[in-house]
Amino acid sequence: MTDMEDQVKLLVALQDLDLMIREAKDTDTSSEMKQMGFKLDGIAELNQARENLAKRIRPQLLNRYERLSKSYGRAIVPVTGNLCLGCFVTLPTSYPSLKSKNSFLTCENCGRILYFP
Ligand SMILES: [Zn+2]
Repeated sequence: MTDMEDQVKLLVALQDLDLMIREAKDTDTSSEMKQMGFKLDGIAELNQARENLAKRIRPQLLNRYERLSKSYGRAIVPVTGNLCLGCFVTLPTSYPSLKSKNSFLTCENCGRILYFP
């Protein structure tokens, strides 16, 4: 596994955690979770896990992620075929980075970070 692939995997995991944290903080979901018997101090554990994960991601990439997730919710999205699943724009087939696994891909239309599942 290249370093880049590793970073992308970490970022996807970070995003999953963020979505869980967001859901857990949501009051409706929280009361639902309480009824289902979930403990709400689980949020602290999620935050801790997030912190540990974030430490392993390059600051530059993490900053970009944070910025994107504020405006979009999902900062890193998969590419299927040549389609960005963030904005559903078809990426040009000549998209240079499609061939290169050694750089981070971003969608030219929405700016989200792309990865190949
Ligand atoms: Zn896009």
